[in-house]
Amino acid sequence: RCVPASASSSPATTAAATEVPGTMKAWAYDAYGDATVLKLDEVAAVPPVADDQVLVKVAAAALNPVDFKRRAGKFQATDSPLPTVPGYDVAGVVVKVGGEVKSFKEGDEVYGMISEKPLDGPKQLGSLAEYVAVDEKLLAPKPNGLDFAEAAGLPLAILTANGGLEKAGLSAGKSVLVLGGAGGVGSLAIQLAKQVYGASTVAATASTNKIELLKSLGADVAIDYTKENFEELPEKYDVVFDAVGQGEKAVKVVKEGGSVVVLTGAVTPPGFRFVVTSDGSTLEKLNPYLESGKVKPLIDPTGPYPFSQVVEAFSYLETGRATGKVVISPV
Ligand code: NDP
Repeated sequence: RCVPASASSSPATTAAATEVPGTMKAWAYDAYGDATVLKLDEVAAVPPVADDQVLVKVAAAALNPVDFKRRAGKFQATDSPLPTVPGYDVAGVVVKVGGEVKSFKEGDEVYGMISEKPLDGPKQLGSLAEYVAVDEKLLAPKPNGLDFAEAAGLPLAILTANGGLEKAGLSAGKSVLVLGGAGGVGSLAIQLAKQVYGASTVAATASTNKIELLKSLGADVAIDYTKENFEELPEKYDVVFDAVGQGEKAVKVVKEGGSVVVLTGAVTPPGFRFVVTSDGSTLEKLNPYLESGKVKPLIDPTGPYPFSQVVEAFSYLETGRATGKVVISPV
């Protein structure tokens, strides 16, 4: 290369360049374990920004079960080295751009999932920090009309819901059963099935207090798993989307030739495992549904948790009872 990118453009004279400090606050752990391994580092180094990355000033982040499973050491074989700053989901403002970045500039409001593959070589420095460096291709403009907290809860969960339904071949006129309809992923799977994929019938499972919620998300049939075993009911579905880990039961309610997508736990044929991939362009394709309000983010009512309460937020998510997303805001 002949000329460094920074030398080819003169510094802005009108807008003041965003001040980026050398250190920041970040949650980190240097050993695998329970939530007590998480420590707040007040002087963590602000991550360097590669040519194809932007630096995001984090406004809000969100937790996913993969964060605590990874923290517990479940993915050690393919994890990034310790110490780890956890967090995949982010919404914030671009404060610096790498030399090859084309789609974003300083001041842009963005959201995304910061690691392309969540289990395989995830980024060491995640979103539970004041700044995070993110590959340009993994980000999308924050949907108009959503605040940072709402946007932060979306990326990993909506990419999982969308990718799983797509891989399962859901299309207009087909029926789908969502197992775990009130969780981060399930609440979006119900809405996408109805609003984006045009499913004829959307059924979903949850416990008694969440049955009305399932209906408000667009479920035509809400099954209270404390009262009925879905696999014993007569209805069969073209697609079963399992966000609980009930693969063995799920295959009992799929129609002949239908498909069963499983996010976690054992997979029994014809069920198959789906693992999410991060991709900003898919988020951008979904933005119109989010901007029109056809698909709505669902933030767990115990939150958003302020940045100081990340440990409490993890402990709550780990109960497995969250309704929608556990969001960290403000950061
Ligand atoms: P959440 O923590 O948001 O899910 C919590 C929800 O699960 C609660 O609302 C709870 O409802 C519901 N739930 C728990 N048990 C049952 C049950 N037996 N039947 C119906 N609902 C139940 O998790 P996520 O939605 O974020 O993720 C779900 C799973 O998918 C996790 O194991 C996660 O690791 C995995 N996952 C995998 C991905 C992949 O790429 N493979 C990507 C994303 C997630 P209630 O209180 O009524 O029981």
